[in-house]
Amino acid sequence: MDKIFIFDTTLRDGEQSPGASMNMQEKFRLAQQFVKMNVDVIEAGFPVASRGDFECVKNIADNVRGIQVAGLARCHERDIDTAWEALKNGENPRIHVFLATSEIHMIHKLKMSREQVLELAVASVRHAAQYTSNVEFSAEDASRSELDFVCEVFEAVIRAGAVTLNFPDTTGYAMPEEFGAKIRYLMKHIPSIDRATVSVHCHNDLGLATANSLAAVQAGARQVECTINGIGERAGNTAMEEIVMALRTRADLLDVATEVVTEQISVTSRMVSTITGMQVQPNKAIVGANAFAHESGIHQDGILKERTTYEIMNPCDIGLNQNNLVLGKHSGRHALHEKIKAMGYTVNDEQLSRVLERFKAVADVKKEMFDEDLEAILMDEVLRVPVSYELLSLGAMSGSKTLPTSAVLMRVNGKEARGCALGVGPIDATFRAIAQLTGTSSKLLYFAVSSITGGTDAQGEVMVRIEDNGTVVLGKGADPDIVTAAAKAYLNGLNRLQYLKNSK
Ligand SMILES: [Zn+2]
Repeated sequence: MDKIFIFDTTLRDGEQSPGASMNMQEKFRLAQQFVKMNVDVIEAGFPVASRGDFECVKNIADNVRGIQVAGLARCHERDIDTAWEALKNGENPRIHVFLATSEIHMIHKLKMSREQVLELAVASVRHAAQYTSNVEFSAEDASRSELDFVCEVFEAVIRAGAVTLNFPDTTGYAMPEEFGAKIRYLMKHIPSIDRATVSVHCHNDLGLATANSLAAVQAGARQVECTINGIGERAGNTAMEEIVMALRTRADLLDVATEVVTEQISVTSRMVSTITGMQVQPNKAIVGANAFAHESGIHQDGILKERTTYEIMNPCDIGLNQNNLVLGKHSGRHALHEKIKAMGYTVNDEQLSRVLERFKAVADVKKEMFDEDLEAILMDEVLRVPVSYELLSLGAMSGSKTLPTSAVLMRVNGKEARGCALGVGPIDATFRAIAQLTGTSSKLLYFAVSSITGGTDAQGEVMVRIEDNGTVVLGKGADPDIVTAAAKAYLNGLNRLQYLKNSK
């Protein structure tokens, strides 16, 4: 079987989803997770775009091993030099340069002729190839470009040193059969094609990203660019979990395979949605909460008799274990540590102590602790930012005939502070009290409550997005009491804002 290389761009294209920005620590954590998943290449960012992007790419290239780290660059010398500067300590760094080849882009955006585009692509690839033999070239908007021109550019850039040729459906315009035919055409009409790997990068504007990627694989593409949960610009990118599980489930038909550890899919999906704040729709293929839920009696009956009657994939294959009941409040430090390791997290002694403490506090009020409960605590602790504001206790009153009031005791930069406020509801009152005590005036853009697991004793998880002076951050908090969860989420966001302010 031929190998399909998986190129994940969650950290670059995925981060371009509206509102999905990630900080350096979060990106690093995800990069480590991609190593665990055995992904082949990750695109860590666009180093020239900002100082922050540069630092993120450099941090990942410097410290993450066992994966190729790519950085994006336009066809400008400065972009390429900056990308290399960020990538150079990587194990097998890849410079990914791109230039549009469609008439629409060349005329309106680049204002360049075909000859100029061809010349610039070659010069840029040659420049990148001075740094590394691992150069990828993307013909932006390839699916709307004249195919013979793309062939001409690809042949020329192979000769200039590109070893991966990416054919993106930048606007999500292609149809599967048409897209497959284009890839087949490239394979036939580029004389030096056997010296390079053909890649595709599809967008989901018509809901066809996965279908188009599969059609391309059938036509000879050997690298697929994708993101976890399909996040990305506009309607998003090809979802990694979909392409990987489609190739695995229908290996009989496709005769190719990826080397992704599929058992890591579920945890990675949750990690991405927690970090970005972009929740996965329940009916999302592979990773949606309902992807393996059987509702109708006929289906349930069939599943009980024989799982394969209605299931084409085993939930265990994506890392969902049916039996996910974890430890109770009497569990010890060692057992908890073992469980944390089994879930794919690494914590140091200090983090373990804090996780244990919080775990016991939640287990005290909640009878059954699930993987998801532990994960919510872990995400918080592992991705912790320095704490300027800390909640000590809170009491909120609400009801149909009560004036909603909240009294908050907290620590503000090491000093205890207390205060209370009225609001339209208990959460509003709590947020007002916190804003007074911290002396902050951020704007709440988004507020969402969900329950981590089923049942009325489930932990509530609150996600907020707040803005201060143009900086937008996400805050998360979990607690069996939703007002407390909301307060934690709000404070988590304020701590992030404070951290960003201090690091500037
Ligand atoms: Zn894209």
